[in-house]
Amino acid sequence: MDWFIEYYNGSGLAVRVVKKLAEIEGIQKVEVYETESLGKMLVIDGKIQLTEFDEAFYHEMLVHVPMLSHPNPKKVGIIGGGDGGALREVLKHDVSRVVLIDIDRNVIEFCKKFLKIDRGAFDDERVEIVVSDGKEFLKQSEKFDVILVDSTDPVGVSDTLFDREFFELARSKCDVFCCQSQSPLVQKEYFKKLLENSSVFEKRTVFLASVPTYPMAIWSFILAGNFDFAEDRFEKIRGKTHHYNPDVHRAAFALPEWMKKEVEGCI
Ligand code: SAM
Repeated sequence: MDWFIEYYNGSGLAVRVVKKLAEIEGIQKVEVYETESLGKMLVIDGKIQLTEFDEAFYHEMLVHVPMLSHPNPKKVGIIGGGDGGALREVLKHDVSRVVLIDIDRNVIEFCKKFLKIDRGAFDDERVEIVVSDGKEFLKQSEKFDVILVDSTDPVGVSDTLFDREFFELARSKCDVFCCQSQSPLVQKEYFKKLLENSSVFEKRTVFLASVPTYPMAIWSFILAGNFDFAEDRFEKIRGKTHHYNPDVHRAAFALPEWMKKEVEGCI
């Protein structure tokens, strides 16, 4: 058996793989592995995107924190998220329309075929799939109640989702916005860039989640717009989550001292 190793800043994560299930190279190199202890694993351009073991930690926080911070989200846009995990979680809510915009058709088709974490979400009648750059899509799109950004690291094709112009567009196209904002430990420069550019929103905040297979296991998110936690709405999804609950929601906003220093002056 081989080891898949993802390196970051002089450290890394090693995952023992049983076999590679599929690989395709288009605008990104997409690989799906069967691992020894973490289930199936999606890798894009050499970076671990998810494992079956902990994908719920990430997807549930990216989705349920903003969805329960909007009074009645019916129309949702997901930018990126071609694996279908965020889509699966959004559909647990009483939504009428979800548009998933991913730049890479290969990711969607591969994940549907080999990963299957969408659990049928791609075929739900409320869902529209658009293959496009997320920023280009927003320039001509309808308005959403909630926009979620589930992107790859801000290099290459996802670069457009991290600049100020993107945040300005997003602000004009939704009430509540949430994006993943990278590792605040080993990707500080990306995190800072996102914090600065998201300042186009009058109100915004940062929350954290533990995601064991992401760099250094602590992941950050930015929540922006007209958000307010409607805890009573959790009743509608109670029993449907693996990781998320209202206690975890509230705790996610408690920032440790080192993190407060990182956001100081930006928020
Ligand atoms: N949860 C993962 C993480 O943080 O490591 C992200 C996984 S998801 C598979 C990322 C998706 O973003 C990919 O499918 C990729 O094709 C998509 N993506 C990257 N740049 C994009 C862009 N400019 N517009 C739309 N989708 C984009």
